[in-house]
Amino acid sequence: MERRVDLAVIGGGASGMAAAIAAGRLGDRVAVFESAPRPCRKLLASGNGRCNLMNTGNPRYFGDAAFASSVLSHAGCDTVRGLMDSLGVLLVPEEDDRVYPATGQSSTVADALKNGLKSVSAGFFPNAEIRRVSRVPDGFTLVRDGEKCHTARVLVACGGPASPRLGGTESGYDILRSFGHRIIDPRPALCPLTTDRKSVSGLSGIRVRCAVTLADPSGRPIHREQGEVLFTDYGVSGICVMQCARFLPEGPCVLELDLISRFFPEEEALSRELHARRERFGDASPEALLNGILLPKLSYAVLKQAGIPLRGERLSDLDDRALSSVASVLRRYRLNVTGTRGLDAAQVTAGGADCREFCPSTMESLLVPGLYASGEVLDVDGDCGGFNLLFAFSSGILAGANGRDLKGVVIP
Ligand SMILES: Cc1cc2nc3c(=O)[nH]c(=O)nc-3n(C[C@H](O)[C@H](O)[C@H](O)COP(=O)(O)OP(=O)(O)OC[C@H]3O[C@@H](n4cnc5c(N)ncnc54)[C@H](O)[C@@H]3O)c2cc1C
Repeated sequence: MERRVDLAVIGGGASGMAAAIAAGRLGDRVAVFESAPRPCRKLLASGNGRCNLMNTGNPRYFGDAAFASSVLSHAGCDTVRGLMDSLGVLLVPEEDDRVYPATGQSSTVADALKNGLKSVSAGFFPNAEIRRVSRVPDGFTLVRDGEKCHTARVLVACGGPASPRLGGTESGYDILRSFGHRIIDPRPALCPLTTDRKSVSGLSGIRVRCAVTLADPSGRPIHREQGEVLFTDYGVSGICVMQCARFLPEGPCVLELDLISRFFPEEEALSRELHARRERFGDASPEALLNGILLPKLSYAVLKQAGIPLRGERLSDLDDRALSSVASVLRRYRLNVTGTRGLDAAQVTAGGADCREFCPSTMESLLVPGLYASGEVLDVDGDCGGFNLLFAFSSGILAGANGRDLKGVVIP
């Protein structure tokens, strides 16, 4: 059987679904091909099942950040809000400019997108993995299970390889490569980090709020973050740690945790506090120096890294040099980073299709007219907080609209 459509969308994630609804509302015949039985798997898992679907603060994008800004200047938060509004999804702002559906359930957004697709009579084909797209004189042909779909335009919205258990795959890259597009090597973004065992020994399960600096072995900073670090048996996790993953250099590096500046920003105040504690708890063991400031296991790890002998010593035995090395470890507790937990554990992919080969107002390929790409398959990744779904929706809407007035998309 041969089907004929105006737009074939490969991938029923956030970006592909938004594109299909936009194109359908503008009068196109649309078909969405999704390799999984159901659409929107990553969206459903997003924001711990609550779907943090956009962020109204300053854009925080990497990869081709300029391309992301340009896309958002054509269809930003207002357009995505308009689309959600038109689908009946009420959005509510929360802290740090994060935006969620009022129900607090990502299924609300996924259901609304599915209904939006139905309302424009777009075809949705589950369990339909597209492996090859062929160029024909008046468009493209997609083949699956012997069935052919002829389309004037084709959108690759396959996402990236992060989180394969939720559909992450490189198949979008393969399709785009077959048309001559360049793919920037994918690597994990928003991913926990692994460290050597010594760095986290005995600390698994501890959470601590601190400033973190990813640095080269000589201490030269590469990237800085702030937030809650969670120690695990393999290394460290937490949003601020995950946001460091995309900056990991090829060679060795360290993560320095500043455990104390939020309580004692001034060197002198910290030194005074440590000296006072030595006076007050002098008969106790050296751990008493930090107990009550840090959790006992972390106090122990800090003293160990500072080279303080812990057996058979009393706190009063520590000289001023020992106190000052404790102070310096408190500001720079070092973890030897060995890598990330890999694409399996990453929420987002850094790298992807080179954005310089696409138009940021329509998402059309500059190499192959009629071919489009949107969402995470492109070389754009954002911080936690709604930036990735925002880019997926925005770029999808632009791809579906293909240069037509967006009023027809957000006001059905
Ligand atoms: C656990 C988790 C939590 C997250 N939380 C957030 C969050 O709170 N906020 C945020 O902004 N972002 C979050 N993200 C990231 C966000 O979900 C993604 O960036 C976003 O879903 C990307 O949308 P997309 O449509 O480009 O790709 P995807 O959502 O990955 O959709 C691509 C679809 O294409 C299908 N597909 C792939 N290849 C083919 C093929 N050859 N043929 C047919 N179908 C194919 C896949 O099955 C998939 O359904 C999270 C991600 C994860 C994994």
